[in-house]
Amino acid sequence: MMMNDRGETQFEYILFDLDETLYPREAGVMKAISDRILRFMTQKVGIPADDATCKKLEYYQEYGTVLRGLMEEYHINPEEYLSYVHDFDPREFLGASPPLDRMLREIPLRKVIFTNADANHSERVLGTLQVRDHFDLIIDIKALNYENKPRPVAYQRALDLLAVSGERCIIVDDTPRNLIPAKDLSMTTILINGGKKSIAVDYAVPTIFHVEMVVKSILPVERR
Ligand SMILES: [Mg+2]
Repeated sequence: MMMNDRGETQFEYILFDLDETLYPREAGVMKAISDRILRFMTQKVGIPADDATCKKLEYYQEYGTVLRGLMEEYHINPEEYLSYVHDFDPREFLGASPPLDRMLREIPLRKVIFTNADANHSERVLGTLQVRDHFDLIIDIKALNYENKPRPVAYQRALDLLAVSGERCIIVDDTPRNLIPAKDLSMTTILINGGKKSIAVDYAVPTIFHVEMVVKSILPVERR
């Protein structure tokens, strides 16, 4: 049912992570967010500076996002957190990316953003890269009811929102652990940025620009 008569999978969607997937780590966006997260923890939540760095790492490891940890342990307002940590102009770090625009145009699948960030930040980043038009939908942390990646429920929620099965989806992310629940739901997984290959990774490529080649190699000939 998920295959055509030549036994090829009928892919419909490709889900892209946003931060450090659509642009390189060296751009410094996540460093800016990370600094603002620490500032939120010390100045807004009142966590002593000595503990904040440690807790930040601990929350990221344990919950997948610092937001989730702060919600669980300090009952913070997630909206306030999200606007605080993303309150900067991505144009300080990024510009238009014609190569990304070109590549997205070449991939004949419906494209979606699947991110632990919020929609405002996603819109600003996509606008700065000048690739917003390629994406049908932004599935952000609010659309996920704050159930962030890599919590398995986040992936099921994304599939429900798209009304599609995992077999018909390709997912692209720069964080290996974010691909594990996707693989469990039968998505085809692409890891970028030379992360560590694991059993959950179907394809590992050095940059986002290599995704087109992978996708074309797995699409039925008539769709390439
Ligand atoms: Mg990322």
